[in-house]
Amino acid sequence: MFDKKSYTLYKFHKQINQSFQDKRELLECALPALRDLFKLDRVYFFNWQQEWALLSLKMMCKKEYCMDMQEDISVANEPAFLRQLLQQGVAETTYLSYTALYVLIRWQRPSVELKSGEVHSVLREKVGVLRLERFRKNRVFTASEIDLIKDLAQEISHNLCNTEIDQAKNQRLNVSTALNDLSTIFASSLRLNDGLELILKGVQRFFQFDRVHLYLTNSEGTRIKAVWGVDISGTVTQETGASRLEEEQQILKEVFESSATYRAARSIIYIPLKLQRTKIGFLTLDNILSRRKIGYLDFISLQQFASQMALSIDNARLFERVQELSNYDELTKLPVRRYFNEKFAEEIYRSKRFGLSLSLIIMDIDWFKQINDNHGHQIGDWALKAVSKIIRSCLRQTDVPCRFGGDEMVIMLPRTNSEESKIIARRLKERIHAITLPDRNSLEPIHLSISQGISTFPGDGTTAQELLDKADKALYVVKQRGRGDFAVYREVVNEVQPETEEKKEETSAEKPAEKEDSSSSTPQSTSLS
Ligand code: GH3
Ligand code: MG
Repeated sequence: MFDKKSYTLYKFHKQINQSFQDKRELLECALPALRDLFKLDRVYFFNWQQEWALLSLKMMCKKEYCMDMQEDISVANEPAFLRQLLQQGVAETTYLSYTALYVLIRWQRPSVELKSGEVHSVLREKVGVLRLERFRKNRVFTASEIDLIKDLAQEISHNLCNTEIDQAKNQRLNVSTALNDLSTIFASSLRLNDGLELILKGVQRFFQFDRVHLYLTNSEGTRIKAVWGVDISGTVTQETGASRLEEEQQILKEVFESSATYRAARSIIYIPLKLQRTKIGFLTLDNILSRRKIGYLDFISLQQFASQMALSIDNARLFERVQELSNYDELTKLPVRRYFNEKFAEEIYRSKRFGLSLSLIIMDIDWFKQINDNHGHQIGDWALKAVSKIIRSCLRQTDVPCRFGGDEMVIMLPRTNSEESKIIARRLKERIHAITLPDRNSLEPIHLSISQGISTFPGDGTTAQELLDKADKALYVVKQRGRGDFAVYREVVNEVQPETEEKKEETSAEKPAEKEDSSSSTPQSTSLS
């Protein structure tokens, strides 16, 4: 025999038993189906909030359309209605001028919880309520209709359960894919700063956190030395310096003592970044402003991601350290020629582009061979270090010094004209002359002396090679004059001998480690005494 109810159930089942992206999509299918089946004027779906006795409206479906809605309706003052709804699964309102039937829907939704530090996946019961409305009072729901509605509600709850499980799985997959992509980007960015900026922005954007902060520790992992932040607008900030707030140092301690912490109530999570025993820092992610809770699933994904991030930061730091080492001369700690050449080319380009001046000083220690011969190589090394220390202390942040080879140093001075560079040359000359060599066998104090040649962009040249040549020629003039002084190329151009030029041009491209003493002058007792 043809059973009408079974057939209706079968048709409804076929209609809503699809793979929906989320609960919303499922309701958009189920509510109109109910509307058509029971000839409803309106049908609503609410979430049931047990602790507040609240019906939270999510979606309303009328004749023509479905729409998302947000409204909380308290039923705390209707105990009889509530009891009936919860016990029998359906309840009718009595206070409206038209027929409205409430139908209970229970389904399971996946969730996670923390038990003694371990994360467990669980299914929690969720409760929803349908409200079916017919505007004409006389169109009440019959007993067989109510019976059918209850069965259909079961069908909906089954689908809600499947949809939410699928959604949770997809969400986890999306999160791990996004975090994986971010890790790949980070791992492939050579400069740590660029990588950090990308990764923080990516995490903020993907999870929609109000703010993300990254605290990086010193190499011992004992104190915070840098903080990176990104806010909801995507603005990245960076603060460095050893003197961080005591409060932050305290958080560092706590984070590592209690491992990752999840403070859902405060909408903030702290995640330590560490490698075996090395503390790299920690991440804080918060929704303090919007007061949105941070989901536990997000927290777990970020925890896994943090270990990859710690590894990448450690690798990037190591890479930068190696880079740094190869850019600096071991003895003097000044940049090497290769690094200087790069910076010099960049600065010439900038100076041309913006019409700025730029000066170059080539400095050479006078009678340095004699210092080595008379006082030993160790004293010679000591002198080189002392000279470099003074060079570094005399310059601005933007100036770039370099050990060009042997006892020859080069200094690039951006935005500096020849007059200004003379002031610097004088200062260098005086301070270096004040150095006393630490030779215990010498009765007299031994002072250092330097000679310096200066060239300026664009007057003396417009390419790196021209500027180096001109400064070298000016230096040669100073050496010829007797050493211990400085000269600007333009001011001594008449003293530059043509044959000298040829001779210097041969050697200026690549200075040999050991120079022949090209000057016939003899050491002046004042220079070394
Ligand atoms: P001048 O006044 O013409 O510059 O004479 P000088 O004796 O200083 O001659 P020059 O600049 O050609 O000498 C460079 C010397 O620097 C030769 C080499 O023995 C010495 N030297 C180069 N590198 C080092 C180093 O790393 N340590 C020490 N101690 N000496 C070095
Ligand atoms: Mg020298």
